[in-house]
Amino acid sequence: MSKGNIYIVSGPSGVGKGTVVKKVVEQNEQIVLSVSATTREPRAGEVDKVHYFFMTKEDFGRIVDEDGFLEHAVYCGNCYGTPKKAVLDKVEEGFDVILEIDIQGGLQILDKLPEAMGIFVLPPSYKELEKRLRGRQSESDDVVAKRLDAAKAEIKQSYLYDYFVVNDTVEHAVKSIKNIIESNRS
Ligand code: ADP
Ligand code: 5GP
Repeated sequence: MSKGNIYIVSGPSGVGKGTVVKKVVEQNEQIVLSVSATTREPRAGEVDKVHYFFMTKEDFGRIVDEDGFLEHAVYCGNCYGTPKKAVLDKVEEGFDVILEIDIQGGLQILDKLPEAMGIFVLPPSYKELEKRLRGRQSESDDVVAKRLDAAKAEIKQSYLYDYFVVNDTVEHAVKSIKNIIESNRS
């Protein structure tokens, strides 16, 4: 079996990355999702080791010191990181691995691993982004405001990515991401 590839999926918080990527992975056995580590609190319904490896700042710092992350970044006050070994092992086994991470982390990976591909997910409009983020009801108003500010900065840097996908409908965005990955494989 030939080696797989790494796909970075980034985009503003609330754009629908999680929703879309979950479906892409469910619909293709050769594509897997990397589970990140974070110091943020779990949201209602989030399960440790499934959605994230939830950990303290001290444990996160230890993994940084051991060089155990492929990339890591601080996003809106919390630390997030991609476990290095788990991702590289899956790539060696022939799986395509999606990293659903922020643009700071995405750019670190594109710099280190030039064969990785960046896919940036855009909202149909800023108004719709705000609506989705508030509609999720997972963050307080001040956290939503921070995330909307971060969105503007992220979109400005998005030109550094290889592909753009507008998440107008989930079906359309899923199809676009699957097409990118499948056509790259063949
Ligand atoms: P992200 O992972 O980018 O932060 P989520 O996947 O949590 O975003 O989606 C944020 C909210 O937007 C969720 O309530 C989700 O159901 C909704 N959503 C996702 N995609 C769409 C879409 N294409 N149209 C309308 N609502 C969407
Ligand atoms: P959330 O708190 O909404 O789950 O994620 C906030 C942001 O952190 C999102 O943009 C998400 O893609 C990003 N993120 C999740 N995991 C990682 C990671 O391992 N590294 C980096 N750099 N960002 C991540």
